[in-house]
Amino acid sequence: MRLRPLCLSLVFAIAGPLQLLAWQQRVHYSMEIVMHVESHSYDGKQQLVYVNNSPDTLRHIYYHLFFEAFKPGSMMDRHDRSLPHGGVLRIGELPPEWQGSVRVESLKQEGSPLTWKIDETILDAALAQPLAPGDSTTLEMTWKTRIPRLTRRGGWMNSEGVEYSMSQWYPKLAEYDAAGWHADEYVQREFYGVYGTFDVALTLPATYVVGGSGRVVNPEEVGCGYELGAVDTLITSPASGTGMKTWRFHAENVHDFAWVADQEYAHQIARWNDVTIHLLYKRSATALWAGASTWIRELLSYYSSRFGAYSWRQFTVAMAGDGGMEYPQLIMVTGYRGASSLLNVIAHETGHQWFYAMVGNNETQEAWLDEGFTQYLTTEAERKLFNLGFNPYEGLEKIVYPWVGSSWTDARSYYQLAIAGYDEPLDTYHDWFREDLTSGLVYYKGMAVVRMMQYMFGDSLFDEAMRHYVDKWRYRHPTTRDLEQAVEEASGMKLDWFFNEWINSTKLCDYAIDALSSEPSAKGYATTITLSNRNEIVMPLDIILTYDDGSKAMANVPVEEWRKPEVEFHLPRWEWVMRDYSTTFITPKRVVRAEIDSSMLLFDIDRTNNIARTGFPESILPASHVAWYRRWDLNRPMDRYSIRLRPALWYSQADGVQLGLVADGGYAFDRYNSKAGIYYNFGSKRVDYDLRYDTPIGLLGRLTKISLIGTNADGVERWGVALTKNIRPYYWDTPYTLDVGLSANHSRLIGENYPNAVAPWSSGSYNTIGVWGSIGSYSGSLHGSISTHFDAGFASASEFAQWRLRADGGLRLWGLDVGGDFFFGTSTGEPPAQLRFNAAGASSVTMHDNVVQRLAMNIRPEFAARNHLVLPGEGYLLAFAGNDSARFGKHLLNMRITVGDLNPFNRFLRVPFLKEFDLGLYGAGGWIFDRSARFSDLEDINLEAGAEVSIDLLRTFLPNVLVNALDSPAPLRLSFYLPFYAHSKLLPAEGFAYRYAIGVSM
Ligand SMILES: [Zn+2]
Repeated sequence: MRLRPLCLSLVFAIAGPLQLLAWQQRVHYSMEIVMHVESHSYDGKQQLVYVNNSPDTLRHIYYHLFFEAFKPGSMMDRHDRSLPHGGVLRIGELPPEWQGSVRVESLKQEGSPLTWKIDETILDAALAQPLAPGDSTTLEMTWKTRIPRLTRRGGWMNSEGVEYSMSQWYPKLAEYDAAGWHADEYVQREFYGVYGTFDVALTLPATYVVGGSGRVVNPEEVGCGYELGAVDTLITSPASGTGMKTWRFHAENVHDFAWVADQEYAHQIARWNDVTIHLLYKRSATALWAGASTWIRELLSYYSSRFGAYSWRQFTVAMAGDGGMEYPQLIMVTGYRGASSLLNVIAHETGHQWFYAMVGNNETQEAWLDEGFTQYLTTEAERKLFNLGFNPYEGLEKIVYPWVGSSWTDARSYYQLAIAGYDEPLDTYHDWFREDLTSGLVYYKGMAVVRMMQYMFGDSLFDEAMRHYVDKWRYRHPTTRDLEQAVEEASGMKLDWFFNEWINSTKLCDYAIDALSSEPSAKGYATTITLSNRNEIVMPLDIILTYDDGSKAMANVPVEEWRKPEVEFHLPRWEWVMRDYSTTFITPKRVVRAEIDSSMLLFDIDRTNNIARTGFPESILPASHVAWYRRWDLNRPMDRYSIRLRPALWYSQADGVQLGLVADGGYAFDRYNSKAGIYYNFGSKRVDYDLRYDTPIGLLGRLTKISLIGTNADGVERWGVALTKNIRPYYWDTPYTLDVGLSANHSRLIGENYPNAVAPWSSGSYNTIGVWGSIGSYSGSLHGSISTHFDAGFASASEFAQWRLRADGGLRLWGLDVGGDFFFGTSTGEPPAQLRFNAAGASSVTMHDNVVQRLAMNIRPEFAARNHLVLPGEGYLLAFAGNDSARFGKHLLNMRITVGDLNPFNRFLRVPFLKEFDLGLYGAGGWIFDRSARFSDLEDINLEAGAEVSIDLLRTFLPNVLVNALDSPAPLRLSFYLPFYAHSKLLPAEGFAYRYAIGVSM
């Protein structure tokens, strides 16, 4: 690897800059295709003139037969089925007439037949005459293809009814480069091909309108608007004629050829400079595509001005494919979507004309080079050209919730994975990323790398460097090292370290300002800044200084001798071997604030330490955003710590009406979460409080968290600490998750009149030390989990221990949800009454911990008893509800089988409102016993069967905008239970009645 730059510089010295680029193979395809639309198949004839520009003699040649992947048992099928949540493509279920196949009938080199073998999607042919360096050869193939029904990328009949999306559709020559052959099997995504010329003749029924990766060379013959040339027009009349028609396309300097055909296409023609733009969309989508031709013109113009000219004479944007996909001079996008989504996909796929089509890196190996640059262009166009940012809110929510579209929000998926410790190096082969979520890093971390070049070079030098890279590598295959060399040439920086850190590693960047001072001196102010590198990545730093008069200046800390243009203070170099840095420099005015990179272009994972201020008390308080209520689930700011305030109103039986103020704070994703609430109770005249803090800690590796609580709410005081760790092999597509934890708590009951009669409580205090673990698994329609929890404790009067074991599972069977639950809990010693197990719901302490259940507990006791109110928990014997003496015990063994999703109004009739109800059946059995009871006392077995009707109150009755305004919008279910059979000697004399329950199910 290290030899290459040496060799190149030698070549440079001898042969001048043009020979600097690596050699590259070249090909000229001539293809004749005759479609049989009734059987979704075609006959193909191909002649390739292949030029070997390599210094090697080639003895074999490889072709991709992509459509071979679309049959049961292919690598694509098996890979898809191996996904933890079951395959999505369902290639294994395709009937034979929907499967793809490529049957090669003959293959000749210069007229001599070749022998070949096919493995997966790769054809390997031994050449009859070895191909020497600099020589060319002619290869001829005839074949028959059955086109698959579209499951991914290409095929017939996409989800929007477009008949032919022809991508990866022909036997395509594999690329040979300095690293040898790239005959990669078609498993998931991304391609690599030989640059050259395509002459393609497509014969199909005259009723089709066709578009392709090139210029139509017989426009008068095919018509459909192509004969009109470059005039702005929209043709919506069907293609006329009978029999078959042949469309001839010609494309140069492309590495692939794709085409589309449909009988209901409208053909819109637009023009930008000397580029003819063809838009092909279903005639029924005409209104949805009203803005498209303007967007495309603006995009071509904007991208050309930023990164170099679009260099072909035509561009086709077609409604086709399975989302959005780029091909040279042609993009396929699905088209029945809203304007912003259509604009987004067109902006992205058009960007690929620069990075993929014109600059053709190997997408299978270095997908970040095309996706990262394209994603950069997409977000730049959306923000700067169309004044749009990524905003996930829609409709009413868009009006109600403010959205701060900072540049980091585009890359939040990188932050999320990086902070959780699940990111993978960007140079991972695209099909080989561990999970789908991390394969997305090529887009967003890739974009981050591009943005960081902009950060390091400054805006104008960055654009210059990008144009140099595009010009230098137009119609060629650059690698990351070639990019590095191009931007080094343009910028003057040396960037080995930069690409090594960000492309080949998963190291993180976190710089901090440790101290800032600015004191009067002879020439002005002696400003001292002390910095530290809190993680592993090394980057130059822009430091934005704010003077006491509010004006600003920029200081730059370089990592090498290169100096960034347009900077007021060039500070001394920070050598990468040092963790800390301090420097004093003279500023004309007093500096009161310093911030590392306010542009958000540097991907620093923790900006809470990026700001320092002089003066008191600013220097000791963290810089933060403080605002009244704001949604955080999608938009927690990344630039600094955020605190939001909201009022609180509550009622409890013990304390009466309560009014309070809550401040909760946090930083990107789940870091430094804090909550402080203070409440005044008008009934009891007591002050309640709620203090919480949790944050990830590195102590036990990734996904480890420490939580602290101190709370006094509704008559119960608790102080505690917990350490939890989540273990999962994958971040998202994970076959199982394992949680383990440790906790210590001190709890105390305050006030004599609390709690009410719904659930028993002992007064006084108790302490517990707990350990727990749970494992959950989800696979296709099957899920299950087991959890166990052990607490050792001592109350004021006694010592006790409790052990709980819970298991549940479910599966989807004949369209029904079939589930099972098991609970076993046992106690030794004398636990406080609030920890006793409840046969008909949750223990008192569990109920108190759940805010909605606590509210229900707080209603008048008579009401609860009369209505047999139950609150869901480990007790499944709901006929017991209201029978308080019998239902609480030290030991509980309980199990249940449920069948859900029985509501005919949901299953068959889809009646509005009525379909929102869940109807299910349950059967339960169990023992509840204290020390006197034994398992053998069969008389204590309680059996029950009944029906349950439940509804999600929030989602049924409140608009989304309000549901999302709630603190944690978990479903709030109201359930009615009708036990229609119960067997128990513990039941009250009056028998059983309907019961209802309020529960929060997460
Ligand atoms: Zn893309």
